[in-house]
Amino acid sequence: MQGVRPDLESMDDRLTAAVETDPGRRNGQPRRVKYKWIPVVDEERCTGCALCVGVCTPGSLDLLSGVAVLSHPDTCGSEDHCIAECANDAIHMRWVAMEGDRGVGRWKA
Ligand code: SF4
Repeated sequence: MQGVRPDLESMDDRLTAAVETDPGRRNGQPRRVKYKWIPVVDEERCTGCALCVGVCTPGSLDLLSGVAVLSHPDTCGSEDHCIAECANDAIHMRWVAMEGDRGVGRWKA
């Protein structure tokens, strides 16, 4: 990902710091893209045990068709409590663009 500055102090800064160049947009001028540090689930490894869902205090994670998904990214505090719960190494924090079609919380990073 181009332009993200993980050195920034506040979450607000981190959410809005990414600037990318979109070649398809008005003469390729840079545009601001919102990114967020969120959990992304590897569906191949997830067994649906729901341990990550249980420790997510804002209730951002749900189980959908036997797989954990971040169904409420807006409430996610990016605190990554869910990561340590997974015995299958199926959930990892990633910078993900917060726009466009997110496919029911199943982001690819
Ligand atoms: S803890 Fe891991 S295996 Fe269990 S539901 Fe969450 S991501 Fe899937």
